[in-house]
Amino acid sequence: MPSRKRAQGKARMKAKAMAKTKTAVAEAATNQQQELSSLMQQIYMCNHGHVPWQVDICAKFASELLNEYNATINRGDSPSPSPRTHTIKSLQAMNSKEEYSEVWNDAGKMKLLVAYFLSLGTKHATEENMWAARVYAHYACFFEEYIASELNNTQASMNRAKMVELLCASDDHTLISYLKHRIPCTCLNEMYKQVKSTKKMGLCFNEHCSHPDRMVDRDTMLNCTRCRSANYCSRECQVADWTRHKKMLCDEVAKAIASFNFKQNSKLSQI
Ligand SMILES: [Zn+2]
Ligand SMILES: [Zn+2]
Ligand SMILES: [Zn+2]
Repeated sequence: MPSRKRAQGKARMKAKAMAKTKTAVAEAATNQQQELSSLMQQIYMCNHGHVPWQVDICAKFASELLNEYNATINRGDSPSPSPRTHTIKSLQAMNSKEEYSEVWNDAGKMKLLVAYFLSLGTKHATEENMWAARVYAHYACFFEEYIASELNNTQASMNRAKMVELLCASDDHTLISYLKHRIPCTCLNEMYKQVKSTKKMGLCFNEHCSHPDRMVDRDTMLNCTRCRSANYCSRECQVADWTRHKKMLCDEVAKAIASFNFKQNSKLSQI
């Protein structure tokens, strides 16, 4: 090959190699930039207390629970399709699954779920998506109450009134205050300032209550002294609901309270 041609060939190869190196450098730079921006995101975007899942079974549990929730809504098979029916049905479905018994029996794993749902609730509240925030807060509250009454035995039974109010209360004060006092960050402080002067509302447990959406100023409500799990707007509503409430909830909770008190007293007498 004449030397000129060889030189041209060499130059072409060199140019090709240079182009290749340039592309590789550009790719590396893009990758680096992407890594940097994801790192920045991790630093600057708050997770509101939820650390990326380290326990696979909890991640699986949470995602299946949300699938169950969506499935109950899509099926529309509940006789009275209230938000409460959907969340309760999805929790019942999960509780009946044997593969998750290690989650249901482990307070540590349950706490991870609480943190996860608090974080989701906070995220949606900051985006003013209050409906979703309520659902997530309700799940967090359910697991919190479950840990206290079923796993740690620090209270006689789950506080149903609190769980219901988070989901159904028409005011944002109840919801934002619940979340704000449980997350480790200050992401809801501003929002809390705006809503804290609004009245906290409560749900009258009488299904035939005449108040709009059965909502009343919480400070004026009467509480069932036997179970402490039901609130009413008036004595009339409490009397009207008594037969149903006694059968559905009150007897069961009253029994749990009696047995809890008995255990506490025998613990004390042993000391
Ligand atoms: Zn935050
Ligand atoms: Zn009422
Ligand atoms: Zn009661």
